[in-house]
Amino acid sequence: MITMHGKRSIVLAVALLSLAAATRLPRLAAAPDQPVLVTLSIVGTSDLHGAAFSRNGLGGLPLLAGYVNNLRAARAADGGAVLLVDSGDTFQGDIESNLSEGALVVDAYNAMGYTAEAVGNHDFDFGSVDSPSARQLPGDLRGALKARAAQARYPFLAANLIDAATDRPVEWPNVRPSVLVDAAGVKVGIVGVVMIDALRSTLAANVQGLRIAPLAPTIAAEASTLRRAGADVVIVVSHAGGRCDRFDQPADLSSCDSESEIFRVARSLPRGLVDVIAAGHTHGGLAHHVDGIGIIQPFSRGQAFGRADVVFDRRIRSVARIQLFAPQEIVPAQYEGTAVTNDPAIVQAMAPALQRVHDLQATTLGVSLDVPIRRVGELGSPLGNLFAEALRDAVPGADVAVINNAGRGLRTDLPDGPLTFGRLYDVFPFDNRVARITVTGAELGRWLAGEIRQGRRGALGISGVRVWTSCIADGIHVDLVRTEGRPIHDEDRLLAVTIGAPTPSGSLASPAPLGGLGPTENAPVVRELVEDWFRRLAHPAQRRLDDATHRSPGSADAPTVICAIP
Ligand SMILES: [Zn+2]
Repeated sequence: MITMHGKRSIVLAVALLSLAAATRLPRLAAAPDQPVLVTLSIVGTSDLHGAAFSRNGLGGLPLLAGYVNNLRAARAADGGAVLLVDSGDTFQGDIESNLSEGALVVDAYNAMGYTAEAVGNHDFDFGSVDSPSARQLPGDLRGALKARAAQARYPFLAANLIDAATDRPVEWPNVRPSVLVDAAGVKVGIVGVVMIDALRSTLAANVQGLRIAPLAPTIAAEASTLRRAGADVVIVVSHAGGRCDRFDQPADLSSCDSESEIFRVARSLPRGLVDVIAAGHTHGGLAHHVDGIGIIQPFSRGQAFGRADVVFDRRIRSVARIQLFAPQEIVPAQYEGTAVTNDPAIVQAMAPALQRVHDLQATTLGVSLDVPIRRVGELGSPLGNLFAEALRDAVPGADVAVINNAGRGLRTDLPDGPLTFGRLYDVFPFDNRVARITVTGAELGRWLAGEIRQGRRGALGISGVRVWTSCIADGIHVDLVRTEGRPIHDEDRLLAVTIGAPTPSGSLASPAPLGGLGPTENAPVVRELVEDWFRRLAHPAQRRLDDATHRSPGSADAPTVICAIP
């Protein structure tokens, strides 16, 4: 080309070359001087439990995003990067998240640019996907979780969540054991794990066919694979955690529960394999070094976030140091030299899902209550009685229904005024299903006597039997009579219905051990039965309500029994 176009072309070509050299020069010159040390700020959130909005000026995803924005600006200025990770139990909790099955939170996390999140035990709670009216559709009982993963523009990580059918980690769309990302030219491997007890801490039906592999060997194997693939830094996002009380000295573990799960895991990992663990699940706080691993954990419900700065030496391609920060409360403040403000982009990202939730909450059930229905009454739980009535009504052949609200599964009183879906949902936000059991009259009586003896009478909801209590020599005696007057004998076999335990807020005890409840996965969802019961209430509704809550004089019972036990 040069020879073809003569001298003039040569001059032009040389000029172009020198221009190219000139424009490239600063970069070429900078390379040797490029800061040897690069800072990766790892921000860890966990156990948000749907708390997307600030409460009393504390927390809220728009304000968290404000903190992250300030930190990203600081890292952009010094050539580093921010990695934003969440350690699970993200969705189940506040109504705005629950009624969108977590979609509202994923909308916000997408807008905030999360890098990855671990799957927590309560991330299974929503079961199958809901219809637009928030009723569970039949089908895959992990449908809601899979929908959230598919919606996310960052991966869900679950290295030790094993599909029993394949004996390998689950392979759902956008759910995988680990991910390798590039942050400011540093290759960062991220592994996700969930605590060993995870499947016993959610609704059993939703996790059938899964098992949990031990954390440490899983992390070790996955981290080794990531290192072989070129990872310079390895982070674990762990829905398993610990608890410490002081955060001023990261090396001082004297304020910590040294036997907590994540400490045991950290101590049993080969040295040098994992740099940082972003922990969760226990709702505790951590900013501590354990056997060379920096562990952060931010309490819960979006009150705070954890932070670990990994300072990486590009020259020797190794971590120079890890600086841990005490959990940072999410309140309006200065951060990285600038005032933290709510990020309007996050408010906007959540707006469509929030509107759908508000519409759903306002849906009326066609009934208005003259007086509130309370959880705790003198002779039992009026609201528990109503739930029991609705359950017994819905199950053909049921003799009795019992609700034990000692675990506070019914979370609030039902206020007077028009009954809306939102108000009922506030009472029982869980997707527990109806459980049926066969008990003898004697078993039911013994269980009731035990509950009453422990002072839990006010938490009991019962339908189908009247309970007569009296004092006998060795304590409380219970006589049971069917509502229509026939006595129940010790040897009578009764079909009893109750709420399949556990609820996420504590188990609703039943008159049988949990193992005796039988499968509940195809049973109706408790709240939906109660909703239907209200919708069916014909005119005049109030009498039926009185019957259900046992406020009518006809169901009067002996006064609260306090037996002097010899
Ligand atoms: Zn958890």
